[in-house]
Amino acid sequence: MNERYKILFEPVKIGPVTAKNRFYQVPHAMGSGNDMPKTRAAQRGIKAEGGWGVINTGYCSIHPSSDDRPLPFSRIWSDADIPAHELMVKAVHEHDALAGIELFHGGAYTPNRHSRLTSLSPSGIQQRPPELDTMQITSPKVMDSQDIKNLIQWHVDATKRALKAGFDVIYCYAGMGFLPYHFLHPDFNKRTDGYGGSLKNRARLISEIISSMKETVDGKAAIAVRISTDELLGFKSDNAESEAHELFELIGELPDLWDLKLSEWAKECPSGRFAESGHMRPYNSFAKELTSKPVVGVGWFTSPDVMVKQISDGVLDFVGAARASIADPFLPNKILEGREDEIRECIGCNICASCYNGGIPVRCTQNPTMGEEWRRGWHPEKPKTKSTDSNILVIGGGPAGLETATTLSKRGYRVTIAEKEDRLGGRINHESILPGMSSYQRVVDYRYNQISQSELVETFLGNELKKEDVLDLGFDHVVTATGSKWNPSLLNEKLTPFNIGKMPNVLTPDDIFNGAETKDEVLIYDFDYYYMGGLLAEHLTNQGKKVSIISPFPSVSPWSFMSNEVNEIALRLHEKNIKTNKEEIIQIIEKDHVVTKNLVSHQTRETNYETLLIVGNRVPQRGLFDELISEENLSDHGIKSINNIGDSNAPGAVVHAIYSGHLYANTFDEGAEESDLKFEYATIQ
Ligand code: ADP
Ligand code: SF4
Repeated sequence: MNERYKILFEPVKIGPVTAKNRFYQVPHAMGSGNDMPKTRAAQRGIKAEGGWGVINTGYCSIHPSSDDRPLPFSRIWSDADIPAHELMVKAVHEHDALAGIELFHGGAYTPNRHSRLTSLSPSGIQQRPPELDTMQITSPKVMDSQDIKNLIQWHVDATKRALKAGFDVIYCYAGMGFLPYHFLHPDFNKRTDGYGGSLKNRARLISEIISSMKETVDGKAAIAVRISTDELLGFKSDNAESEAHELFELIGELPDLWDLKLSEWAKECPSGRFAESGHMRPYNSFAKELTSKPVVGVGWFTSPDVMVKQISDGVLDFVGAARASIADPFLPNKILEGREDEIRECIGCNICASCYNGGIPVRCTQNPTMGEEWRRGWHPEKPKTKSTDSNILVIGGGPAGLETATTLSKRGYRVTIAEKEDRLGGRINHESILPGMSSYQRVVDYRYNQISQSELVETFLGNELKKEDVLDLGFDHVVTATGSKWNPSLLNEKLTPFNIGKMPNVLTPDDIFNGAETKDEVLIYDFDYYYMGGLLAEHLTNQGKKVSIISPFPSVSPWSFMSNEVNEIALRLHEKNIKTNKEEIIQIIEKDHVVTKNLVSHQTRETNYETLLIVGNRVPQRGLFDELISEENLSDHGIKSINNIGDSNAPGAVVHAIYSGHLYANTFDEGAEESDLKFEYATIQ
């Protein structure tokens, strides 16, 4: 191990328990909840195997009055929920890590759409959930003294169950818009009894919860508190520098650990496009001066040097991570073994966040095995060894081809990559130079590093293969990963794209990537759901062009809501003075103007353009694959199989291409079609 990382492997005491190192997987939802306990246990267990010292559950509801359906929360509502948690605790303990559970009551935040219990709150004030703002149609009830007693008792009951399940760290969640936090927050707590008014009174509930939980565990587990600090730091206090400072002066010594976070998820977990590693330091750095208890904080830590700095500067005791542990569950062990160049560094795309928002197990762009540990039996570091001595030709060195070659070579197969361009990377080479996108280059860097160290991989750049070349080369298996192209297209009234062919002064993103010049005024017609339209608008504005956008959707890049980016994109367009006309489709393109139709009012209007850039749909480049499979005598050329993967099969986000490459590499020798491949499933996963 590199000496300068030694500090990361020091054990740290958390009340009655001790973490073996400072790598702390903070509570974060994995999208598997209680419905998929085996998936969840395998997801968490793999991180323990990879060396994380503490592994926590995601938010775990303590009572049906905190029901967050349809989002995939965990629960510990009765003893019947204990066995599902025991699976995870066992998986974590097997690798000498501590298991933590984040007990949670959502209060006004949870709409209780399934349980149909009334939502609870200090003063009847609604919480607008930042990620799903259409859910709350009733106001929460004002809690009376019995409700307060009940809430404390539910924490006690859940703590007893958590102890039975074997957890070592048990949380009280006083962050975001959840119930204990609302009691702290002067905008939500307007009470005039002993639980409202001064901060001391507003902190009374959380103090009582922590004290009751501590009494319940009686030294058998640690009690942690997760708290949002950003707003409290902004609230003035008569007694201290801010209400956050005052709170720590009041109860800083009460729990065994403080876990610091922000008041909104999109702010705390912004995509890498809009944040720097360590971005939470301004909200974290006050705490350690005011408590002797260990402090954990997050902030998109992906590199060991940033982690060390937070510890040695005295900001944190534990390096908190969600995304770094998803992208590379083996990050701690790689640092321990001096293999930090092998870390699969998180790119900050927030595809993982989108899975939680979509109610499915977390998937990851960088780590295609995440969420498939139990169902398919995949391991991020140890794919199963080869079953034959076949050699494989991979055509195309984009994300799909690179992942295929990386995983095949780890399995022990001989692989040759042929890439038409003079460097590997495919679409990443174009996209990572756009504003804020440089971290996407890590997709290539990790895989390039792996294959360049492998004797089993040969790479041929500047090598565009044709059918005859492939037939002559004599490989056992051939896989085409030849990518996709942006289509010059419009939408019809059903919002279905149709091709319009090449037109003068009408470009696609590929034209821009290939160096096409635009005129000074660029009109972007963006009906891609994801990031490309807004990104190119920003890129061209940075080059001095005057850019405006027409979109059929109510917001630009609407799917980016799922990756916590949509508001940041809107802000960036606003800051750059990029005018957006929403809910419009282009119906006619003339030489110097387009005719648009408003999808709400149905009115048409004309807009002039000098260059029209259409960011629409992509079409697969599957010509080579189609030619190859139409060849009748493949076996005469020694070819046993031909497959088409990634964007040349079905264009998607980078996560889809990587997954497709991994799926092929892990299963091609099973001789089955994708749809026939077996994976574990059960009513309860
Ligand atoms: P994906 O996301 O599916 O990996 P990309 O578009 O990023 O797709 O990458 C596809 C890669 O395939 C590009 O780098 C492209 O240059 C390369 N390619 C396309 N056709 C050929 C071919 N006939 N021979 C070699 N490389 C090819
Ligand atoms: Fe990081 Fe993206 Fe993976 Fe999430 S999905 S852990 S942001 S690489």
